[in-house]
Amino acid sequence: MLQPVEIVAAALLAAKIAGDNVLASLNRREIARNAGAVPPALSGVMDAPTYAKAVEYSLAKNAFGRWEELCEAAVLAALVFGGLLPRWFAAWTDLAGATGWSQALWLVSVGVALAIPVLPLDWWGTFRLEARFGFNNSTLRLWIADKIKGGLVALALVTPLLWLLLSLVVWIGRWWWAWGFALVMAFQLLMLVLYPLLILPLFNKLAPLPEGELKSGLMALADRAGFRARTIEVMDGSKRSGHSNAFFTGFGRFRRIVLFDTLIKQLSPAELEAVLAHEIGHYKRGHIPKMLALSASFLAAGFFAVDWLMRSPWFLAGFGFAPEAGAAPALLLVALLGGLATYWLSPLLNSLSRRHEYEADAFARDTVNGHAPLVGALRKLAEKNLTNLTPHPWFSTFHYSHPTLIEREQALVGELR
Ligand SMILES: [Zn+2]
Repeated sequence: MLQPVEIVAAALLAAKIAGDNVLASLNRREIARNAGAVPPALSGVMDAPTYAKAVEYSLAKNAFGRWEELCEAAVLAALVFGGLLPRWFAAWTDLAGATGWSQALWLVSVGVALAIPVLPLDWWGTFRLEARFGFNNSTLRLWIADKIKGGLVALALVTPLLWLLLSLVVWIGRWWWAWGFALVMAFQLLMLVLYPLLILPLFNKLAPLPEGELKSGLMALADRAGFRARTIEVMDGSKRSGHSNAFFTGFGRFRRIVLFDTLIKQLSPAELEAVLAHEIGHYKRGHIPKMLALSASFLAAGFFAVDWLMRSPWFLAGFGFAPEAGAAPALLLVALLGGLATYWLSPLLNSLSRRHEYEADAFARDTVNGHAPLVGALRKLAEKNLTNLTPHPWFSTFHYSHPTLIEREQALVGELR
């Protein structure tokens, strides 16, 4: 029989699946309803054959996303409700002892078990879905190498971190969770700096943008925007995918701007300047520390929850563990199930993220003196990435971290009037 706390967890899982299903259905219907022609406000973004392809791509991604969600939910349910985790934990600690290292490795083994069933989905997404629409540039060999490398990097980083966390419980006692929070936060800040320096180069080639008109234009723009950039880097994103992107990592002296080679190929110099100005806008408007503070508060709440729950006998016992099983199972259960509760905060968090996008867009428009280059860039990106031009408003409100193309254009053009 399911325990009360398991019933709550099952209800949360069912509610998330139901919520996502309703939103995905609405979205699918909205795409189908608009499949005949490009919406008038966006005429000129795509020609008819490209729009037909974008509709087909959006529908295929919609269907794939639903499968993905069901498979992931099935794996989660099998682990959490089948009584598998407590037996696994008991057998593991019988064999390897209840030391920090043994429990850290147990958590890692569960992580590996969760990652393996997702691999076929990942393969299908890359070599069937993305390939069918001409986006995939990866090979099976590269894909396998990525998985092995990614797994080893994660293992090397996460295992010692988990060991430290679990040791804090023993070393510090009552306030271990506050120290644990500080530790993970420090780790995240360190990764912001080290990731582009040490980890990204394991997967991609990063090179400074070569000297020339494009670089001097972009550097001049960065200067004008009040952002002293040491260098702008180009990443060979085309090695894996035709999708294009630009991003910003690090902070302070360690900040870096990275442009995908695909982006440089797709956009004109003026449009690239507008995209760079948008990225600098995020920096200038303080979005990075704001998002860091927000994620820190979630992290602190998560650690507080782990501490409270591991000392609440109904929680661990409710999931079949010994009531004194301690921090490792509590950490795992909060990590596995926390998302089911915070899922309902997505619209709130995404609306904050969308507000930041509007602010960065406005910054870019004011920096490059006009909305035309950014609108041009956004339109081209929508066309090249076969973006869904007609998401259902509920779907985009809930799931979109960026405003839709129409919303962004209206904000960019409208504020000028
Ligand atoms: Zn942005």
